Amino acid sequence: MDTENKKSRSDILGVDPMTFVRDNIKNMEPYSCARDEFSGDADIFLDANESPYDNGVNRYPDSSQQQLKDIISVVKGCEGGLSTDQIFLGNGSDEVIDLLLRAFCEPAQDNIIICPPTYGMYSVSASINNVECRKVPLDEDFQPRVETILSVADSRSRILFLCSPNNPTGNIMDNQKVDRLLREFPGIVVMDEAYVDFAPGCSMVDKLDKYCNLVILQTLSKAWGMAGIRVGMCFASTEVVEVLNRIKPPYNVNSLSQQRAMETLNDKKQLTDHVQEICGERERVKKALEILPLVDKVWLSQANFLLVRVKNARELYLYLVKNGVIVRDRSTVKSLEQCLRISIGTKEQNDRMMELIASSCKL
Ligand SMILES: *Cc1c(COP(=O)(O)O)cnc(C)c1O
Repeated sequence: MDTENKKSRSDILGVDPMTFVRDNIKNMEPYSCARDEFSGDADIFLDANESPYDNGVNRYPDSSQQQLKDIISVVKGCEGGLSTDQIFLGNGSDEVIDLLLRAFCEPAQDNIIICPPTYGMYSVSASINNVECRKVPLDEDFQPRVETILSVADSRSRILFLCSPNNPTGNIMDNQKVDRLLREFPGIVVMDEAYVDFAPGCSMVDKLDKYCNLVILQTLSKAWGMAGIRVGMCFASTEVVEVLNRIKPPYNVNSLSQQRAMETLNDKKQLTDHVQEICGERERVKKALEILPLVDKVWLSQANFLLVRVKNARELYLYLVKNGVIVRDRSTVKSLEQCLRISIGTKEQNDRMMELIASSCKL
Protein backbone atom coordinates (compact mmCIF):
# COMPACT_ATOMS: atom_id res chain seq x y z
CA MET A 1 0.00 0.00 0.00
CA ASP A 2 1.18 3.41 -0.96
CA THR A 3 -0.44 5.42 1.80
CA GLU A 4 2.63 7.51 2.54
CA ASN A 5 2.85 9.34 -0.77
CA LYS A 6 -0.62 9.17 -2.24
CA LYS A 7 -3.05 11.53 -0.62
CA SER A 8 -6.41 9.98 0.03
CA ARG A 9 -9.35 11.62 -1.65
CA SER A 10 -10.46 13.25 1.64
CA ASP A 11 -7.21 15.25 1.88
CA ILE A 12 -7.86 16.83 -1.49
CA LEU A 13 -9.89 20.03 -1.43
CA GLY A 14 -12.21 21.61 -3.98
CA VAL A 15 -15.11 20.24 -5.99
CA ASP A 16 -14.31 17.29 -8.29
CA PRO A 17 -14.53 18.49 -11.93
CA MET A 18 -15.10 14.92 -13.14
CA THR A 19 -18.66 15.17 -11.83
CA PHE A 20 -19.55 17.70 -14.52
CA VAL A 21 -17.69 16.60 -17.64
CA ARG A 22 -20.27 16.94 -20.41
CA ASP A 23 -22.00 13.64 -21.19
CA ASN A 24 -21.23 13.71 -24.92
CA ILE A 25 -17.54 14.01 -24.07
CA LYS A 26 -17.62 11.35 -21.38
CA ASN A 27 -19.24 8.95 -23.83
CA MET A 28 -17.36 9.70 -27.04
CA GLU A 29 -14.76 7.56 -28.71
CA PRO A 30 -11.67 9.81 -29.13
CA TYR A 31 -10.00 10.00 -32.54
CA SER A 32 -7.06 7.67 -32.66
CA CYS A 33 -4.32 8.80 -35.02
CA ALA A 34 -2.00 6.40 -36.83
CA ARG A 35 0.98 7.06 -34.56
CA ASP A 36 -1.14 6.44 -31.43
CA GLU A 37 -1.89 2.89 -32.48
CA PHE A 38 1.74 1.86 -32.68
CA SER A 39 4.44 2.30 -30.10
CA GLY A 40 7.95 0.90 -30.20
CA ASP A 41 10.77 1.00 -32.71
CA ALA A 42 10.36 0.59 -36.43
CA ASP A 43 12.22 1.54 -39.60
CA ILE A 44 9.49 1.90 -42.12
CA PHE A 45 6.35 3.91 -41.49
CA LEU A 46 3.60 3.28 -44.02
CA ASP A 47 0.72 3.94 -41.66
CA ALA A 48 -0.16 7.63 -41.95
CA ASN A 49 -0.16 8.48 -45.66
CA GLU A 50 2.80 10.79 -45.15
CA SER A 51 5.39 11.55 -47.78
CA PRO A 52 8.42 9.24 -47.50
CA TYR A 53 10.88 11.97 -48.56
CA ASP A 54 12.71 13.30 -45.52
CA ASN A 55 12.70 17.08 -45.31
CA GLY A 56 12.57 17.35 -41.53
CA VAL A 57 8.82 17.86 -41.36
CA ASN A 58 7.36 15.16 -43.61
CA ARG A 59 6.18 13.18 -40.57
CA TYR A 60 3.25 14.13 -38.33
CA PRO A 61 4.32 15.60 -34.98
CA ASP A 62 4.15 13.64 -31.73
CA SER A 63 0.50 14.16 -30.82
CA SER A 64 1.26 13.82 -27.10
CA GLN A 65 4.31 16.15 -27.19
CA GLN A 66 6.14 13.80 -24.83
CA GLN A 67 9.67 15.20 -25.15
CA LEU A 68 8.47 18.75 -24.75
CA LYS A 69 6.43 17.82 -21.67
CA ASP A 70 9.48 16.10 -20.16
CA ILE A 71 11.36 19.39 -20.36
CA ILE A 72 8.42 21.45 -19.07
CA SER A 73 8.00 19.16 -16.08
CA VAL A 74 11.62 19.87 -15.12
CA VAL A 75 11.51 23.63 -15.82
CA LYS A 76 8.14 24.16 -14.13
CA GLY A 77 8.31 21.45 -11.52
CA CYS A 78 8.05 22.63 -7.95
CA GLU A 79 9.19 20.80 -4.82
CA GLY A 80 6.39 18.26 -5.03
CA GLY A 81 7.23 17.77 -8.73
CA LEU A 82 5.00 18.14 -11.75
CA SER A 83 4.46 14.93 -13.65
CA THR A 84 4.00 14.95 -17.42
CA ASP A 85 0.45 13.63 -17.07
CA GLN A 86 -0.42 16.83 -15.19
CA ILE A 87 0.59 18.83 -18.28
CA PHE A 88 -1.60 19.62 -21.28
CA LEU A 89 -0.30 21.70 -24.20
CA GLY A 90 -2.35 23.82 -26.55
CA ASN A 91 -1.96 25.92 -29.67
CA GLY A 92 -1.54 28.91 -27.35
CA SER A 93 -3.37 29.11 -24.03
CA ASP A 94 -6.29 30.53 -25.97
CA GLU A 95 -6.90 27.03 -27.29
CA VAL A 96 -6.87 25.63 -23.76
CA ILE A 97 -9.47 28.20 -22.64
CA ASP A 98 -11.74 27.05 -25.47
CA LEU A 99 -11.19 23.34 -24.74
CA LEU A 100 -11.99 23.83 -21.04
CA LEU A 101 -15.30 25.44 -21.99
CA ARG A 102 -16.08 22.68 -24.46
CA ALA A 103 -15.29 19.93 -21.96
CA PHE A 104 -17.02 21.23 -18.87
CA CYS A 105 -19.76 23.69 -19.92
CA GLU A 106 -23.05 22.52 -21.41
CA PRO A 107 -24.06 25.19 -23.97
CA ALA A 108 -27.18 27.19 -23.08
CA GLN A 109 -27.24 25.66 -19.59
CA ASP A 110 -23.98 26.16 -17.71
CA ASN A 111 -22.24 29.42 -16.86
CA ILE A 112 -18.78 30.76 -16.14
CA ILE A 113 -17.71 33.67 -13.95
CA ILE A 114 -15.10 36.25 -14.84
CA CYS A 115 -13.79 39.26 -12.90
CA PRO A 116 -13.34 42.30 -15.13
CA PRO A 117 -11.30 44.21 -15.99
CA THR A 118 -9.46 41.14 -17.23
CA TYR A 119 -8.32 39.24 -20.29
CA GLY A 120 -10.89 39.38 -23.09
CA MET A 121 -10.75 35.81 -24.39
CA TYR A 122 -12.70 34.23 -21.51
CA SER A 123 -15.95 35.96 -22.45
CA VAL A 124 -15.30 35.66 -26.20
CA SER A 125 -14.71 31.92 -25.88
CA ALA A 126 -17.83 31.63 -23.72
CA SER A 127 -19.90 33.42 -26.40
CA ILE A 128 -18.56 31.14 -29.11
CA ASN A 129 -19.56 28.13 -27.03
CA ASN A 130 -22.97 29.61 -26.13
CA VAL A 131 -22.09 29.58 -22.43
CA GLU A 132 -23.40 32.36 -20.16
CA CYS A 133 -20.64 34.59 -18.80
CA ARG A 134 -21.37 36.20 -15.42
CA LYS A 135 -19.30 39.22 -14.48
CA VAL A 136 -18.23 40.04 -10.94
CA PRO A 137 -15.96 43.10 -11.20
CA LEU A 138 -12.71 43.19 -9.23
CA ASP A 139 -12.78 45.51 -6.20
CA GLU A 140 -11.05 48.92 -5.99
CA ASP A 141 -7.71 47.20 -5.38
CA PHE A 142 -8.37 44.93 -8.39
CA GLN A 143 -8.86 41.94 -6.07
CA PRO A 144 -11.65 39.36 -6.48
CA ARG A 145 -14.80 39.96 -4.40
CA VAL A 146 -15.01 36.53 -2.85
CA GLU A 147 -18.44 36.83 -1.22
CA THR A 148 -20.04 38.21 -4.37
CA ILE A 149 -18.48 35.54 -6.57
CA LEU A 150 -19.76 32.81 -4.27
CA SER A 151 -23.24 34.32 -4.17
CA VAL A 152 -23.40 34.78 -7.94
CA ALA A 153 -22.29 31.17 -8.46
CA ASP A 154 -25.00 28.51 -8.64
CA SER A 155 -25.21 24.79 -9.32
CA ARG A 156 -24.51 25.40 -13.02
CA SER A 157 -21.37 27.50 -12.52
CA ARG A 158 -18.57 25.45 -14.02
CA ILE A 159 -15.51 27.69 -14.32
CA LEU A 160 -14.21 30.78 -12.53
CA PHE A 161 -11.48 32.53 -14.49
CA LEU A 162 -8.91 34.44 -12.45
CA CYS A 163 -5.81 35.99 -13.93
CA SER A 164 -2.70 36.59 -11.80
CA PRO A 165 -0.81 38.81 -12.51
CA ASN A 166 -3.97 40.21 -14.04
CA ASN A 167 -4.12 41.62 -17.55
CA PRO A 168 -4.52 44.65 -17.82
CA THR A 169 -4.09 45.72 -14.17
CA GLY A 170 -0.75 43.98 -13.52
CA ASN A 171 -1.45 42.89 -9.92
CA ILE A 172 -1.31 39.49 -8.23
CA MET A 173 -4.49 38.01 -6.77
CA ASP A 174 -4.48 37.72 -3.00
CA ASN A 175 -3.53 34.18 -1.92
CA GLN A 176 -6.04 33.83 0.88
CA LYS A 177 -8.88 34.94 -1.38
CA VAL A 178 -7.84 32.47 -4.07
CA ASP A 179 -7.56 29.66 -1.50
CA ARG A 180 -11.05 30.34 -0.26
CA LEU A 181 -12.42 30.37 -3.81
CA LEU A 182 -10.67 27.08 -4.55
CA ARG A 183 -12.31 25.53 -1.49
CA GLU A 184 -15.80 26.97 -1.93
CA PHE A 185 -16.42 27.72 -5.62
CA PRO A 186 -18.65 24.93 -7.02
CA GLY A 187 -16.59 24.49 -10.20
CA ILE A 188 -13.11 24.71 -11.69
CA VAL A 189 -10.93 27.69 -10.73
CA VAL A 190 -8.67 28.62 -13.63
CA MET A 191 -5.62 30.64 -12.64
CA ASP A 192 -4.31 32.27 -15.79
CA GLU A 193 -0.62 32.81 -15.06
CA ALA A 194 0.41 34.12 -18.49
CA TYR A 195 2.64 36.72 -16.79
CA VAL A 196 3.84 34.73 -13.79
CA ASP A 197 7.41 34.47 -15.11
CA PHE A 198 7.68 38.20 -14.33
CA ALA A 199 6.56 37.52 -10.74
CA PRO A 200 8.82 34.77 -9.39
CA GLY A 201 7.38 32.80 -6.49
CA CYS A 202 3.79 33.71 -7.32
CA SER A 203 2.75 30.60 -9.25
CA MET A 204 0.11 28.29 -7.76
CA VAL A 205 1.72 25.19 -9.31
CA ASP A 206 2.65 23.82 -5.88
CA LYS A 207 -1.06 23.78 -4.95
CA LEU A 208 -2.10 21.34 -7.68
CA ASP A 209 -1.88 18.38 -5.30
CA LYS A 210 -4.05 20.15 -2.78
CA TYR A 211 -6.99 21.23 -4.97
CA CYS A 212 -8.47 18.97 -7.64
CA ASN A 213 -10.39 21.89 -9.17
CA LEU A 214 -7.30 24.05 -9.76
CA VAL A 215 -6.32 24.54 -13.40
CA ILE A 216 -3.28 26.70 -14.18
CA LEU A 217 -2.57 28.31 -17.53
CA GLN A 218 0.87 29.49 -18.56
CA THR A 219 2.33 30.34 -21.94
CA LEU A 220 5.55 30.69 -23.90
CA SER A 221 4.13 33.87 -25.48
CA LYS A 222 5.21 36.49 -22.96
CA ALA A 223 8.39 36.20 -20.86
CA TRP A 224 9.71 33.30 -22.94
CA GLY A 225 9.44 35.49 -26.04
CA MET A 226 7.71 32.96 -28.31
CA ALA A 227 4.29 34.38 -29.11
CA GLY A 228 4.77 33.33 -32.73
CA ILE A 229 5.00 29.58 -32.12
CA ARG A 230 1.70 29.36 -30.19
CA VAL A 231 2.47 27.10 -27.26
CA GLY A 232 0.24 27.36 -24.20
CA MET A 233 0.63 25.22 -21.12
CA CYS A 234 -2.03 23.91 -18.79
CA PHE A 235 -1.22 22.31 -15.43
CA ALA A 236 -4.03 20.40 -13.75
CA SER A 237 -5.02 17.07 -12.21
CA THR A 238 -4.30 14.01 -14.34
CA GLU A 239 -8.08 13.53 -14.70
CA VAL A 240 -8.65 17.02 -16.13
CA VAL A 241 -5.64 16.60 -18.43
CA GLU A 242 -7.09 13.30 -19.66
CA VAL A 243 -10.37 14.97 -20.57
CA LEU A 244 -8.58 17.72 -22.50
CA ASN A 245 -6.51 15.10 -24.32
CA ARG A 246 -9.70 13.35 -25.44
CA ILE A 247 -11.05 16.41 -27.21
CA LYS A 248 -8.00 18.24 -28.53
CA PRO A 249 -7.24 18.27 -32.25
CA PRO A 250 -4.75 15.38 -32.56
CA TYR A 251 -1.83 17.47 -33.86
CA ASN A 252 -2.57 20.78 -32.15
CA VAL A 253 1.10 21.64 -31.54
CA ASN A 254 3.10 21.38 -34.76
CA SER A 255 6.60 19.90 -34.93
CA LEU A 256 8.40 23.19 -35.63
CA SER A 257 6.79 24.71 -32.55
CA GLN A 258 7.63 21.69 -30.40
CA GLN A 259 11.24 21.81 -31.58
CA ARG A 260 11.62 25.54 -31.02
CA ALA A 261 9.91 25.36 -27.63
CA MET A 262 12.36 22.69 -26.44
CA GLU A 263 15.35 24.75 -27.53
CA THR A 264 14.03 27.83 -25.75
CA LEU A 265 13.06 26.06 -22.53
CA ASN A 266 16.60 24.73 -22.27
CA ASP A 267 17.92 28.30 -22.15
CA LYS A 268 16.66 29.40 -18.77
CA LYS A 269 19.52 31.89 -18.48
CA GLN A 270 18.10 33.96 -21.33
CA LEU A 271 14.69 33.97 -19.68
CA THR A 272 16.11 35.17 -16.37
CA ASP A 273 18.18 37.86 -18.10
CA HIS A 274 15.24 39.16 -20.12
CA VAL A 275 12.88 39.10 -17.14
CA GLN A 276 15.37 41.02 -15.05
CA GLU A 277 15.85 43.60 -17.78
CA ILE A 278 12.12 44.03 -18.42
CA CYS A 279 11.34 44.37 -14.70
CA GLY A 280 14.14 46.92 -14.30
CA GLU A 281 12.82 48.91 -17.25
CA ARG A 282 9.27 48.67 -15.88
CA GLU A 283 10.31 50.37 -12.64
CA ARG A 284 12.36 53.02 -14.46
CA VAL A 285 9.48 53.79 -16.84
CA LYS A 286 6.99 53.86 -13.96
CA LYS A 287 9.02 56.48 -12.07
CA ALA A 288 9.61 58.58 -15.18
CA LEU A 289 5.94 58.53 -16.19
CA GLU A 290 4.75 59.43 -12.69
CA ILE A 291 6.41 62.84 -12.77
CA LEU A 292 4.85 63.85 -16.10
CA PRO A 293 2.03 66.37 -15.54
CA LEU A 294 -0.18 64.52 -18.03
CA VAL A 295 0.00 61.30 -16.03
CA ASP A 296 -2.51 60.81 -13.20
CA LYS A 297 -1.55 57.39 -11.96
CA VAL A 298 0.69 54.43 -12.74
CA TRP A 299 -0.34 51.23 -11.00
CA LEU A 300 2.17 48.83 -9.47
CA SER A 301 2.76 45.97 -11.87
CA GLN A 302 4.16 42.48 -11.53
CA ALA A 303 3.96 41.90 -15.28
CA ASN A 304 5.62 43.28 -18.43
CA PHE A 305 3.24 46.19 -18.86
CA LEU A 306 2.01 49.23 -16.98
CA LEU A 307 -1.54 50.44 -16.54
CA VAL A 308 -1.42 54.23 -16.77
CA ARG A 309 -4.19 56.77 -16.21
CA VAL A 310 -3.66 60.00 -18.12
CA LYS A 311 -5.49 63.30 -18.67
CA ASN A 312 -6.89 62.44 -22.10
CA ALA A 313 -6.24 58.85 -23.07
CA ARG A 314 -7.79 58.81 -26.54
CA GLU A 315 -6.00 61.98 -27.62
CA LEU A 316 -2.66 60.74 -26.29
CA TYR A 317 -3.18 57.34 -27.89
CA LEU A 318 -3.79 58.93 -31.29
CA TYR A 319 -0.78 61.21 -30.87
CA LEU A 320 1.43 58.19 -30.16
CA VAL A 321 -0.01 56.31 -33.16
CA LYS A 322 0.66 59.29 -35.40
CA ASN A 323 4.29 59.11 -34.30
CA GLY A 324 4.61 55.38 -34.84
CA VAL A 325 4.21 54.13 -31.26
CA ILE A 326 1.28 51.82 -30.55
CA VAL A 327 0.02 51.24 -27.00
CA ARG A 328 -3.26 49.69 -25.91
CA ASP A 329 -6.13 52.10 -25.38
CA ARG A 330 -8.23 50.67 -22.54
CA SER A 331 -10.12 53.88 -21.86
CA THR A 332 -13.49 52.51 -22.99
CA VAL A 333 -13.32 49.62 -20.51
CA LYS A 334 -15.45 50.00 -17.39
CA SER A 335 -13.38 51.18 -14.37
CA LEU A 336 -10.42 51.88 -16.67
CA GLU A 337 -11.54 55.34 -17.82
CA GLN A 338 -8.61 57.35 -19.28
CA CYS A 339 -6.29 54.32 -19.03
CA LEU A 340 -3.66 53.07 -21.42
CA ARG A 341 -1.85 49.76 -21.11
CA ILE A 342 1.76 50.13 -22.13
CA SER A 343 3.96 47.08 -22.74
CA ILE A 344 7.57 47.38 -21.62
CA GLY A 345 9.95 47.36 -24.59
CA THR A 346 13.69 47.86 -24.90
CA LYS A 347 15.27 50.87 -23.23
CA GLU A 348 15.34 52.72 -26.57
CA GLN A 349 11.71 51.94 -27.33
CA ASN A 350 10.61 53.00 -23.86
CA ASP A 351 12.57 56.24 -24.09
CA ARG A 352 10.95 57.07 -27.43
CA MET A 353 7.49 56.39 -25.98
CA MET A 354 8.19 58.60 -22.96
CA GLU A 355 9.68 61.42 -25.05
CA LEU A 356 6.50 61.47 -27.09
CA ILE A 357 4.26 61.52 -24.01
CA ALA A 358 6.36 64.35 -22.55
CA SER A 359 6.23 66.32 -25.81
CA SER A 360 2.48 65.85 -26.15
CA CYS A 361 2.03 67.99 -22.99
CA LYS A 362 3.44 70.96 -24.85
CA LEU A 363 1.00 70.77 -27.75
C1 LIG B 1 -1.39 36.94 -23.66
C2 LIG B 1 -2.32 36.24 -22.77
C3 LIG B 1 -2.73 34.93 -23.03
C4 LIG B 1 -2.48 34.33 -24.38
O1 LIG B 1 -1.60 33.36 -24.38
P1 LIG B 1 -1.29 32.54 -25.71
O2 LIG B 1 -0.57 31.38 -25.16
O3 LIG B 1 -0.48 33.42 -26.58
O4 LIG B 1 -2.61 32.15 -26.36
C5 LIG B 1 -3.50 34.27 -22.10
N1 LIG B 1 -3.90 34.90 -20.97
C6 LIG B 1 -3.55 36.16 -20.72
C7 LIG B 1 -4.02 36.80 -19.48
C8 LIG B 1 -2.78 36.87 -21.62
O5 LIG B 1 -2.49 38.16 -21.38
